Amino acid sequence: MAAPRLVEASSRYPRSLIVRAVQEVLDELRRAIARGELLDANRLEPDRVSLPVIDRLESLDRPHLRPVINATGVIVHTNLGRSILPERVLERLRSVAGGYSNLEYRLDEGMRGSRYSHVEGILQELMGGEAAMVVNNNAAAVLICLETLAQGREAVVSRGQLVEIGGAFRIPDVMKKSGAVMVEVGTTNKTHLRDYEEAISSETGLLLRVHRSNFQLVGFTQDVDAKDLVALGRKHGVPVMEDLGSGCLVDFSRYGLPREPTVQEVLASGVDLVTFSGDKLLGGPQAGVILGRKPLVERIKANPLNRAMRIDKLTLAALEETLRLYRDEETAVRCIPTLGMVFRSYKSLRSRAAGLKRRIGKIDPGNFTVVLADGTSKTGGGALPLLDLPTRLVALAAGRMSAHRIEKRLREHDPPIIARVENDRVLLDVRTIQDGELATVARAVQQLARVPGA
Ligand SMILES: *Cc1c(COP(=O)(O)O)cnc(C)c1O
Repeated sequence: MAAPRLVEASSRYPRSLIVRAVQEVLDELRRAIARGELLDANRLEPDRVSLPVIDRLESLDRPHLRPVINATGVIVHTNLGRSILPERVLERLRSVAGGYSNLEYRLDEGMRGSRYSHVEGILQELMGGEAAMVVNNNAAAVLICLETLAQGREAVVSRGQLVEIGGAFRIPDVMKKSGAVMVEVGTTNKTHLRDYEEAISSETGLLLRVHRSNFQLVGFTQDVDAKDLVALGRKHGVPVMEDLGSGCLVDFSRYGLPREPTVQEVLASGVDLVTFSGDKLLGGPQAGVILGRKPLVERIKANPLNRAMRIDKLTLAALEETLRLYRDEETAVRCIPTLGMVFRSYKSLRSRAAGLKRRIGKIDPGNFTVVLADGTSKTGGGALPLLDLPTRLVALAAGRMSAHRIEKRLREHDPPIIARVENDRVLLDVRTIQDGELATVARAVQQLARVPGA
């Protein structure tokens, strides 16, 4: 602790952290001595030992959850935090988080209010529906809807829609947890309206539709339209719910992409409840939105489970501000990074990639070479699973340094750069690299090219 370097470090780090770093480094040295590996006593001089202690301190002091650069080309990448929030949303977060707010307080009446009131109006304005509420995420939304409407009763669902989303979210398991009795109808590839009709009994509490988020059925297939299912539900007095997964508000076909069902359309088809995520194609914070008939939404709000899935004020602030951007579609597409990345044209990606290669400049080609290549990006986040978005890649073709070494070194960079490896090349997809990150990526590649003896 008295080594000059550590005395100097004590102005930057708390003493407890320095002690821990010293202990960890000394433990390692002891183990090395015990293994007979460390025989040179000079290496135990405090001045020498304090060097790895400083390295250890830097890594101990670094926040665990930190920004990374997404060079994978997967836009809504669940492992990398899904959607990037728009600038205006960040400003809103700052102002709401740094002070008190009217979270559950009615400013007009001076009495207790509802936290849902902040987004209920704008959700209905943009998408329709008689009432709305929000919970922690879409998985929670699905669970609480099922629990409220179908606990101890039967919920009818097509065999072709029993999806697994990932992270162990599987429709049959969620239904079981909700206490609903799952009644599967149809076959893997084809489900007819009569299959639903035959399954309806006095025990039926719900007809459930689930969006096939991450796969598609092609070939000899048949599905039942939401409209037809709604008519059937009305006839038998059974509510119809749709788990839409990715909450898309914009008609993708207007931007030259395949159609994704929008929340507005699903509600217009007459379904009684729809649920979707806030952080997939919507491009906002993690949240689960529930929209639909007022009596049903009121029952869900009153469900004691709701308290356990309650949405937090930061999320509410971020969600409201994201939704406000959707009042003007052009503004939404311009300001919401998730949408901007989906709609980025190949032409602009070509010039971005060329720009990145130019920034990297001439490097010694020993470790690897830098080339431009065509490739594909993915929307991710359970939407348009078959859609390949044409993109332009900056590829690092392995030389002395293997592609896996390059990938690992980029991942260890500060900030970490996450890239894909394919055919002995590390691919940097400029679609998901943000403007302010291009210089950092270029510098990291230059540094890597200079690593000797790779
Ligand atoms: C993504 C998804 C979910 C889960 O949503 P989270 O936001 O991850 O909780 C549920 N259902 C469908 C159809 C989905 O695509």
